[in-house]
Amino acid sequence: MTLYLARYLLPISAPPIEDGALLLNQDRIAAVGRRAELLPGFVGEVVDFGDAALLPPLVNAHTHLELSHFSLWAAAADKSHAPASFVDWLLYLIDIKRGLTEDELAASLQDGLRQCLRFGTGAVGDILSTASLSPHYAASPLYGRIYFELLGVDQAVWQGALLRAEAELGKDDFARLQPGLAPHAPYSLSSEALAVIFATARRQNWPLTTHLAESPQESELVERGAGELLERLYPAVGWKDYRPAAANCSPTAYLDRFGGLQPDNLLVHGVQVNEADCRLLADRAVTVALCPRSNERLGVGCAPVADYRAAGVKLALGTDSLASNDSLSLWDELAAARRCYGAQLSPTELLAMATRNGAEALGLKGEMGTLQAGYGAHFQLLPLRDPPRLAELEEFLCSCGCDTVPSALYLNGRERLQAIGGQKHGELDAAERR
Ligand SMILES: [Zn+2]
Repeated sequence: MTLYLARYLLPISAPPIEDGALLLNQDRIAAVGRRAELLPGFVGEVVDFGDAALLPPLVNAHTHLELSHFSLWAAAADKSHAPASFVDWLLYLIDIKRGLTEDELAASLQDGLRQCLRFGTGAVGDILSTASLSPHYAASPLYGRIYFELLGVDQAVWQGALLRAEAELGKDDFARLQPGLAPHAPYSLSSEALAVIFATARRQNWPLTTHLAESPQESELVERGAGELLERLYPAVGWKDYRPAAANCSPTAYLDRFGGLQPDNLLVHGVQVNEADCRLLADRAVTVALCPRSNERLGVGCAPVADYRAAGVKLALGTDSLASNDSLSLWDELAAARRCYGAQLSPTELLAMATRNGAEALGLKGEMGTLQAGYGAHFQLLPLRDPPRLAELEEFLCSCGCDTVPSALYLNGRERLQAIGGQKHGELDAAERR
């Protein structure tokens, strides 16, 4: 047994604790409480982190780690410009990605996995478009899911991708990252593909993730069967012969027609949603991962979090890829969410989105996301040079952004960043241990 002490402890499942203590029994949490409750009489190893906040690892519910070297590739191709619109950005992404080798994508993925750890992330919902790269996750201590991307309107193409993904899902070498499918988005799959993929996933109990209601252009394509995606994206990717019928409804209602709003489909973005969509998402018990920095970068607007809250939709947080973001730090994302959503989401709610809600959406309830007895021994440690008062702690943590770098990240009871500089129990005041 080891007892970890810190000035502040954030269980997430309960209010923050001053002078907190976390008791680990090998790879599980045995108890969470105050130092004054758990330290007296304790005879095992004690590690005192001093002025620091101890809290669960963050959960990046949506990213594409294979694109982590995007800015390097863009610079090498002399294409480091900012696309003017969402469709310009899609064409830009396709253009850069087309020239990459599998080795370049593999190096980028591995770097992305390392960056997540460095920013205190313990679990990811990661989308992989190159299925053959899946063995590269095996050495990472990260938890979460690898979602194999499915994309295309040509039957032979999406069926081929589905067969390859099915073969991947049958493997058992994913360690702590479990496989699922990512039917990409309503605008990038034919109606037939959506129907077949969602029916197959439901039958097989496969976890899913789908980009939904990201841009106004997606709404225009779904509702009216027209617009910039049809006119510019489709010809550029060889889909000019496919013309979707006007569905006369929102992307959310459209996805529901195909059975896409399954509870284990983690939806991403959810910017172009109305109040009726929010009620439908709440009824279907799905989680929506918000990506405020990506939305801002691509100029698609801001998710209506007040409507989500009013309807009771579960929300998580993701960075999306480094093709539309500056960092894989969820601490940066929290600071952006605080700025974008203002007082509509409290710091307590934001921290829950970035930990518990994301973990539950990735199937990690009971394992990660909160500090509770019985959960896995996963936590991170943030040093506090100038500690705020307890009442201001959550606001402080949601405001620091890139200044927030953990000094330690424990996953499955093992430190993953560096040797820890905490005091050993012999250095504690002996009187306090009696
Ligand atoms: Zn994405």
